Amino acid sequence: MERDFWLDDVQEVLFTEEQIHERVKELARQISQDYQEKTPIIVGVLKGVMCFLPDLIRKMSIPVEVDFIAVSSYSTETRDKGVVRVVKDLDLPLMDRHVLFVEDVVDTGLTLHYLLRNLRARNPASLEVCTLLNKNPRRLINIPIRYVGFEVPDYFVVGYGLDYNERYRNLPYIGILKPSVLFGKD
Ligand code: 5GP
Ligand code: MG
Ligand code: MG
Repeated sequence: MERDFWLDDVQEVLFTEEQIHERVKELARQISQDYQEKTPIIVGVLKGVMCFLPDLIRKMSIPVEVDFIAVSSYSTETRDKGVVRVVKDLDLPLMDRHVLFVEDVVDTGLTLHYLLRNLRARNPASLEVCTLLNKNPRRLINIPIRYVGFEVPDYFVVGYGLDYNERYRNLPYIGILKPSVLFGKD
């Protein structure tokens, strides 16, 4: 199918495929430098990191181990507090390991705050965060983020792993949907 197919639904492209790949390469270089001889465990949160994490680790020049955690929110009420249910836990023990936690987007920061507390309880040697996108204007909890791909304004974005109702994860770029897609045509 033609790539142009998506343009029916996309209002604006924020980051092109080329821009993403350049930035991911830079992040991978920086992380490889910082974690030399540390063999970090790269922990990704499913499913939003499904494009970012594999691209990132394939551009790293150090040995890494990789694991995933999958979460889902209980209800609207708990989601507002960042409380999530772990639906797939990690396979690897984190004790005394250098852990790099990889997120798709940090918005309010509530989910990240909750998950970091969960990971910290497993006593890693170190725990840092890498996020593809950072929505700083909406942050409610201040969390130090070591590696940021791109700063984004307060938009709902999709593509390169990020979904809207499970669709658009396979867009090769990151963009904003048309209001008619988000809110219906009428
Ligand atoms: P937070 O707890 O920081 O407010 O956001 C938690 C989660 O909401 C993110 O990890 C992400 O899964 C989702 N999210 C936040 N902003 C966006 C966005 O603009 N687009 C998409 N697709 N998901 C988002
Ligand atoms: Mg996420
Ligand atoms: Mg989602």
